[in-house]
Amino acid sequence: MKKTLLILTVVLLLLCTACGKNETNHDAFFDTFLLTDMKVDGITTPALFNPAKGTSTPICTDPLCAHTKDAGCPFGGYNKVGDIHYHNNAIYYLSGKQSLLDSDIMRYDMESGKIDSIVSLTELAEYVPADIKSGNGIGHGFIDGYFRYIIRNADFTAAFQLRVDLDNGKVEVLDKNYRYPTAEYDGITLTTTPEMDYTGVSYGFVKTDDKGNTETILADRRIQITFDDLLSDGKLIYTDCYQREDGKYDLERQRLWMYDFKTGEDRLIMEEFPDVYIAMHGDYIYHVKDVENPPVLGVDMNSEGKERFNTSGGILWRTNIYTGECEIAFEMPEYTLMGTQIDRVGQYIVIGYHNVDYKNYTVEEFVHHNVVETWYQYPEEIGRIVYDTVSGRTAVYPDAST
Ligand SMILES: [Zn+2]
Repeated sequence: MKKTLLILTVVLLLLCTACGKNETNHDAFFDTFLLTDMKVDGITTPALFNPAKGTSTPICTDPLCAHTKDAGCPFGGYNKVGDIHYHNNAIYYLSGKQSLLDSDIMRYDMESGKIDSIVSLTELAEYVPADIKSGNGIGHGFIDGYFRYIIRNADFTAAFQLRVDLDNGKVEVLDKNYRYPTAEYDGITLTTTPEMDYTGVSYGFVKTDDKGNTETILADRRIQITFDDLLSDGKLIYTDCYQREDGKYDLERQRLWMYDFKTGEDRLIMEEFPDVYIAMHGDYIYHVKDVENPPVLGVDMNSEGKERFNTSGGILWRTNIYTGECEIAFEMPEYTLMGTQIDRVGQYIVIGYHNVDYKNYTVEEFVHHNVVETWYQYPEEIGRIVYDTVSGRTAVYPDAST
């Protein structure tokens, strides 16, 4: 996932940027909690992690609940597919049955404690016209109070899209050219350009002002990802990928830019941006990158004696969006950081780690097709590190459940 972004994922990332920015309770919620899963006595259930306190609390409010179907838990049999979404004091997720295609969109009302299925993906599929064949799969996701659903032909010549209003469950078939806002600030909206091609790359942005006037800006940029942390004073961070001599895009090499809504200035932050996951706070973006001479973790016997390294070096980097200067926020070489799991919650940066102890192992033998095979089992630990951007302090929360 880290570097091989699927086309539809890119499209979703491009479009999932204005998610709920106008909801004040949304902002207050995400300044306090990280929406996540946790395990309670072996049962996975949705939870809220509070980085200021270091506590995880199940969303099911019954402290004695076993969080199973038998116990009558609203999340009994919890089988989430993809992301969990917060909107208007409710949480939403796709609950799988046999496969993604017959999953339900679930809504859990945090006030009443009630859970309902809004609509199933099987029902949504009935809206799709017969001439649209899903050559590129189905793109879907939660965005800004909606569940979006899009199907494209293999050659991108035809598309069908609809959305479900999460507040009332209404299904709305959209024009095939409809584009969700990429970013909004002070009456100005940016969307992707119609030329967006098979790679999911947008050729600049279409900018619409509060009077409805439109113009294409930054048309020479091949915009790949826009990050959903829009600074309060109107700065948008995005990446632009390199175009090779044969005209194709190198989706693994990106430059990092900042667009200023107020001045129209577009500033290069970094020539070779090492990652596609960032968290942002104040004048800094926080991210992981591969270090030189990474610490050796040991040898993975299951992969024919391959050496394993902590390529993150246990370092969280921060880059100043004005100067491009990159410095160490913290360095904890005993932790293998997961750059894909990075979030900002209020003044805190929360990053996942996954430590595997390759020096300690137990050997298991099992019979597979009448052959005795050997499997090496390594102790591993998953958890989170919380970095306080104000005090610079870190705290480690081991949690094998995430
Ligand atoms: Zn429960």
